Amino acid sequence: MDSAKLRQGFLDFFKKKGHKIVPSSSLIPTDPSVLFTSAGMQQFIPYLSGEKDTMKDFNVRHLVSVQKCFRTLDIEKVGDDTHHTFFEMLGNWSIGGDSKTGYFKEGAIEYALEFFVEVLNLNKNKFWITIFSGEKNIPKDQESINIWEKNGIPRERMKEFGIKDNFWGPVGETGPCGPCSEIHYDRGEKYGCGDSGCGPNCKKCSRFVEIWNLVFMEYNKNQDGSYSKLPQKNVDTGIGFERLVFILQKRESAYESDLFLPIIEKIEEISGQSYKNNEKYFRIIADHIRGSIFLISEGILPSNIERGYILRRVLRKAISFGKVLNSPKNFLIPLAQKTVEIYKDIYPELKSKEAEILTVIQNEEEKFSKALESGIKLFEKESKKGHITGTEMFNIFSSASVPVEIMENLAEEKGIEIRDRDDFEKEMKKHKEISRAGMKKKFGGVGKEAGYESAKLHTATHLLHAALRKVLGEHVRQMGSDITPQRLRFDFSHPKKMTEEEIKKVEDLINQKIEKDLTVKKEEMPFQEALKSGALAFFKEKYPEKVTVYSIDNFSKEICAGPHTKKTSEIGRIKISKEESSGEGVRRIRAILVKPR
Ligand code: ATP
Ligand code: MG
Repeated sequence: MDSAKLRQGFLDFFKKKGHKIVPSSSLIPTDPSVLFTSAGMQQFIPYLSGEKDTMKDFNVRHLVSVQKCFRTLDIEKVGDDTHHTFFEMLGNWSIGGDSKTGYFKEGAIEYALEFFVEVLNLNKNKFWITIFSGEKNIPKDQESINIWEKNGIPRERMKEFGIKDNFWGPVGETGPCGPCSEIHYDRGEKYGCGDSGCGPNCKKCSRFVEIWNLVFMEYNKNQDGSYSKLPQKNVDTGIGFERLVFILQKRESAYESDLFLPIIEKIEEISGQSYKNNEKYFRIIADHIRGSIFLISEGILPSNIERGYILRRVLRKAISFGKVLNSPKNFLIPLAQKTVEIYKDIYPELKSKEAEILTVIQNEEEKFSKALESGIKLFEKESKKGHITGTEMFNIFSSASVPVEIMENLAEEKGIEIRDRDDFEKEMKKHKEISRAGMKKKFGGVGKEAGYESAKLHTATHLLHAALRKVLGEHVRQMGSDITPQRLRFDFSHPKKMTEEEIKKVEDLINQKIEKDLTVKKEEMPFQEALKSGALAFFKEKYPEKVTVYSIDNFSKEICAGPHTKKTSEIGRIKISKEESSGEGVRRIRAILVKPR
């Protein structure tokens, strides 16, 4: 079965079972605390948590989708048989409802078996099932064991795991989550490590491939790390599409199915090298070019921060591995064109934005090639003494981004000895820990723990923006904004220094609005409609099609992903601590929140 038929077949199967087909959401999530959409359930979080009702918005409780995902955490795994950065996730949901209107464990398991065995003709005897073993006051999932057994899966092919492996979610630090039960497919001894303990989640080999994760979502993880029951029960499932495709097409890995093979063959053609001898390089190039194209199609551009940094990282890795394979200049262009061809019918935006996508890739390659050349010169200089050390190589990597594979190739070609190679890995490990800590600070841990404080500062920022426009004039536009748990910082367009009097007016106006205890109203609507309704948008931001608009009385209305407080009185009082210049025609205000008088 070709991949296009399978994708459609999945949607049709669940449609027949009363599910509504929901299009993929953007790779850029509305929740600002996570970088990318990494699972199909993300766009449904407000429904899963009970905050919103699917009956109201979709007229059904049962949904099905094919979701574009991007997993930064899996970048280093790319090159194995089963992990990608970008991938598609097939999922079905039953949200809320009771035993008549919704389905839970039994329904989810029976649908999964029906689709895999009866529709796709997969051999049930190759299925191994994982079960949640119970941990942290959450009981073992005996119910799922019984259901699988009733449906013909013997107990011996079920393995139990704890929270780390068999409990899904939440996305970020808090939110809906629950125990899961997964279908792993046994590819046979040929792929195994032969260990007696080998089975699903084996650390040593990839004989067992996890294809479908069924999550029984009935918990919420709270700020303090505890789990409480959600007001409702949900089913949330996810199939790795690329994995299912290569298993159905009986291939050795995801890179040999019809989703990737044309790209792999194109790399062979351009580089004149064989896939078999350079498997890892080929796979990484193919994955990263595909991932890059999808990111660029969402308006992301290479940069040194956040999403743009991830794009730059994968693009540059693809470019340098192309160099390792001695590919000619601009070799990514035909690969990108091939990828667009594979996906153009499913994701037409790739075709309509093709010219733009190719330009971004070409520009990055030109920029990076220059950096690489100067890095290679540096390598030649350092290795004049006849050898080079791991630490020296790390320095070249970190200052000029020359990948270690390129340096190793150069060393081999020129007969240069590499000393203390381990030091490279040691330095690299340190480097990663530092950048991971930075990312976590921005996108996880710290930000979320300080969730409520940050909500107060977000709401205060909207009041500040509106007050500045009232006091100084409508020319005031947000130019930047930054919130830490201690203070807010706001940059805006205004030609001259604010007077003491103006600052006081702005402060007073905000505090008046706070004291009035106004409601902060939250609405969702299409982006264009939001603009038409007069909501302010930040021009530097790329918005998804559907946005959240927060408004406070008739005073403030902005498109924003939040979080915000429910009432203005929660903020306390605002105190502007500093007003200064932040570049030509731009002023910067710092403000803190203080206890009400
Ligand atoms: P694994 O342990 O194999 O990395 P996971 O537990 O992280 O998978 P889930 O978060 O349960 O995976 O995601 C649901 C499904 O998506 C998985 O069952 C798998 O088939 C697929 N999947 C997960 N990560 C990737 C990836 N990086 N590339 C391709 N498919 C993936
Ligand atoms: Mg899983």
